[in-house]
Amino acid sequence: MQPFTYARPASLDEALHLAQRPGAALLAGGTTMVDLMRGDLAAPSSIVDIGHLEELATFNAAGPVLRFGCLARMADVAEDKVLLRDYPALAESLNFAASQQLRNAATVGGNLLQRTRCVYFRDGVSACNKRAPGSGCSAQNGLTRDMALFGGSERCIATYPGDWATALSAFDASVEIGSTSGIRSIPLADLHVPYGEDPAAETTLRPGEIITAILVQATPAGRRSTYLKVRDRQSYAYAVVSATVALQMDGQTVREARVSLGGVATRPWRSHAAEAALAGVVLTEQTALAAGHAGFAAAKPLAENGFKIELGARAVARAALVASRRN
Ligand code: SF4
Repeated sequence: MQPFTYARPASLDEALHLAQRPGAALLAGGTTMVDLMRGDLAAPSSIVDIGHLEELATFNAAGPVLRFGCLARMADVAEDKVLLRDYPALAESLNFAASQQLRNAATVGGNLLQRTRCVYFRDGVSACNKRAPGSGCSAQNGLTRDMALFGGSERCIATYPGDWATALSAFDASVEIGSTSGIRSIPLADLHVPYGEDPAAETTLRPGEIITAILVQATPAGRRSTYLKVRDRQSYAYAVVSATVALQMDGQTVREARVSLGGVATRPWRSHAAEAALAGVVLTEQTALAAGHAGFAAAKPLAENGFKIELGARAVARAALVASRRN
């Protein structure tokens, strides 16, 4: 780990000014940044510790706009009774992430910025365009079980690992971003960039910017929602596949569907194909599975991850059936 300076600003305003320094990195819960620094995957020259700024730690899951301050702890949000009742998919996406100890420390803002778990990125030595731009992509001819079905390029096929952002994407969430120039808001869909030409670029955040809050417009689809996560073990594991489904129903007929996929794409992946297949149909095991298959029709399997297509389709189908039974 390289030497770095440490600053503990007294306010968001001071933090925004400190974050302007070249080489500065933010520390909130520390569960991502410390991990990256220990692995020599991040080497900031200065750390700006914002984890104690209470003004950024409040959240409210009621009202016309849900607002989650960036420093709200994952565990606190996951256990919020209003969120559990009105948006169970969002609460589940937090509850199924990491471990209880990590959820107690990690923040909902920092969670959006998790970096890929690609083994070649994490090992620190393999050719990896994300860690060492231009060096190549060891995964292309390597272990592809955990790589992406959607959104990859010949430069990078790593999956985005987060559960929370995946669930939020089904709800058209937006992100409030602060800087010394003021506050701007962008759709969450515009936060994570496709890997494309530059796998090292993962978000559209500009230097010195801080995610200050996550916003969700209230929707009745929240009550009939679920986050279904399939993983290699029942706890403390990333998604092999995940599916968020939120529904508005007229009796047994789907009036509106929202679907997003995790563990299978280079970014949180909204599945408009699955949504279109669900809209207007009488929901049965057959129509739910057909929608799941529609969601994976455009998948591009690699040597070892083709099994995720059927697994993912079935995850969407089961999630749709679970969501439809909630009220
Ligand atoms: Fe690096 Fe992406 Fe290739 Fe993994 S898939 S080795 S992160 S470039």
